[in-house]
Amino acid sequence: MYIGRFAPTPSGPLHFGSIITALASYLDAKKNNGYWKIRIDDIDSPRIVEGAELSILKGLESLGLLWDDKISRQSENIKEYKNILEILEHKNLTYNCNCSRKKIAILNQSNLNESTYNNHCRSMHHPSSSKSAIRLITDYKSTNFIDRVQGSQCDNDSTGDFIIKRSDQLYSYQLAVVIDDQLQSVTNIVRGTDLLSSTIKQHYMNNVLNFPEKIYMHIPIATINNQKLSKSNGNKLNNNNSSLILIEGLNFLKQKIKRGIENASPREILKYAVKNWDLTPLQKIKKIELSSTQKLLVDNTHT
Ligand SMILES: [Zn+2]
Repeated sequence: MYIGRFAPTPSGPLHFGSIITALASYLDAKKNNGYWKIRIDDIDSPRIVEGAELSILKGLESLGLLWDDKISRQSENIKEYKNILEILEHKNLTYNCNCSRKKIAILNQSNLNESTYNNHCRSMHHPSSSKSAIRLITDYKSTNFIDRVQGSQCDNDSTGDFIIKRSDQLYSYQLAVVIDDQLQSVTNIVRGTDLLSSTIKQHYMNNVLNFPEKIYMHIPIATINNQKLSKSNGNKLNNNNSSLILIEGLNFLKQKIKRGIENASPREILKYAVKNWDLTPLQKIKKIELSSTQKLLVDNTHT
């Protein structure tokens, strides 16, 4: 049974980029006669904006992207994160890290990639404290996977041991997502290529925890002037014509669109799009610049 999901962070309303991810994951799930579940990724509490969850859910409903099953929230899974962290600690797969971002940047002199950590504290045996982060000991060698759209993936950047509990004592996104997907019995994950480096970490942890293998598909991210569309860039949707938004989402995803369908209801458009869903045109594409019509759907196109 195919179980897919869409997992927005409630830090603002849906924007065109998140709609594309929602649409692709919905179409892929429905094409495979699967379930499409919603999870609210609210673990990073400082980023949460009041009212954003409701606005996201209403946005999905107006597009006809109706979910199966009850909505789950990361904030409901904290107990399970704690359990899994303890399992990893008992396996001696974790250690405390006291490095600040600044220190990591200095340690990385030869490598300016901020997400890389040279495992500095792995052998330090720092005692745990309310100010230290906890990292997972990694060995990525055997964790390659085949992405359905992007092909073979491996850890080219040697991302190093990654944080599973942050120094502010919140569980990390990487830890939470792996456990959430397991709790929701997710089999298939569809997300943007900007998350590929996260996926490598999550895929690794999924293996360490002996959870069933997930099937991944990373779709191109939407850009304006080569910059990723995001809530933080102010790329709000400025149009509420659901049929038009769906048609432009399908155009972005290089899907077949028959003449006249743009005047149909969201429900009919989705029915047609599920039937004709085709991954072939997306193969190996990492990002796509919005067309001029698509840019009109987005505020702040000239930032
Ligand atoms: Zn450290």
